[in-house]
Amino acid sequence: MHFETKTIHAGVHPDPSTGAIMTPIFQTSTYVQDGPGHHKGYEYARTQNPTRTVLQDNLASLEGGHAAYCFGSGLAAMDAVIKLLRSGDSVLASNDMYGGSFRQLDKVFRQFGIDTRLIPMQDPAHVEASIAPNTRLIWIETPTNPLLNMVDIEAVCHMARSRGIMVCVDNTFATPYLQNPIRLGADLVLHSATKYLGGHSDVVHGVVVCSSGELAEKIKFIQNASGAVPGPMDCFLILRGIKTLHVRVDRACENAAKIADFLLSHARVKRVLYPGLSTHPGHAIAKKQMKKFGAMLSFDLHDESMEAAFKVLAGTRLFSCAESLGGVESLIGHPASMTHASLPREERMKSGLTDTLIRLSVGIEHVDDLIEDLRQALDS
Ligand SMILES: *Cc1c(COP(=O)(O)O)cnc(C)c1O
Repeated sequence: MHFETKTIHAGVHPDPSTGAIMTPIFQTSTYVQDGPGHHKGYEYARTQNPTRTVLQDNLASLEGGHAAYCFGSGLAAMDAVIKLLRSGDSVLASNDMYGGSFRQLDKVFRQFGIDTRLIPMQDPAHVEASIAPNTRLIWIETPTNPLLNMVDIEAVCHMARSRGIMVCVDNTFATPYLQNPIRLGADLVLHSATKYLGGHSDVVHGVVVCSSGELAEKIKFIQNASGAVPGPMDCFLILRGIKTLHVRVDRACENAAKIADFLLSHARVKRVLYPGLSTHPGHAIAKKQMKKFGAMLSFDLHDESMEAAFKVLAGTRLFSCAESLGGVESLIGHPASMTHASLPREERMKSGLTDTLIRLSVGIEHVDDLIEDLRQALDS
């Protein structure tokens, strides 16, 4: 079955009791049993919920995994993955990973004896050289936020496998439509479904997809034992969002490519970071492991003051200034003062996250309107 058919049909069945074509929202905490222990596979809604089951089966199919498990947020999903580790284990992660992911590793799990080492991951040889005897998990994010750096998933997984190290790929930016890390050798895939999977900026939700039955058993156990499960309404919203994932992402990628070209041609723009540009350092890897180049891009200005960037943000009318990404509407953000404000300036500048770097989450509006909006904001 093609991806575009799976988004709509995988795991989804008409409701057997009514024929409802859409998966019902099973808003229930418990299920009546015929007698003690005699039930229909559902006992208590932390453990199983039929709306969640359909979504989980759908997601496992989209990522080509053995099973998927859903959580109350992307970070709750990550929390379940890190609980596969033990005190004394170490995580190797990219130095420009999502700030909230780093905060969880650094502020929550470090105090339980799980430490994290951050490195640039663009060069697989450097990843290999950074492995310590207690490295148990390599955490890849690609493309990264907001610099759109690329990590060669297949190369890192190949090297990790020979050492018995697990690899988890945060696939939030690429979506399962553009990139399937399990096919490239990853053990686990994480999504903040809050972003493209939901796609309408109306729900917070997370997913872990497991490549094997063994990992699936462990994550399923943690999902129930730690209990960070999503509600059925949220599962319904993600299921509904996924039905149009490919259409939305196609249009958003197309718009982003045109916007990247426009920005390159604008006199005030110094640099455009978009993996679809042949000048982007990760272009070849993106081409190898992604179907298209995504709809996130960043650019910075020749001006060097934060104020210059603030003026551009204040000047857009269609692009709304907000955190998050992946919705149908276009967003604009200023990482140095918003998502990455907690990074010391020196660290930021070293990695190329300048004071005027502006990040766009390109939506599915008409591209001419989006370009016109950016043009007037840059020209004013
Ligand atoms: C948003 C995000 C997360 C965290 O997900 P939440 O749903 O906000 O908890 C993790 N990774 C990436 C890449 C994200 O963009």
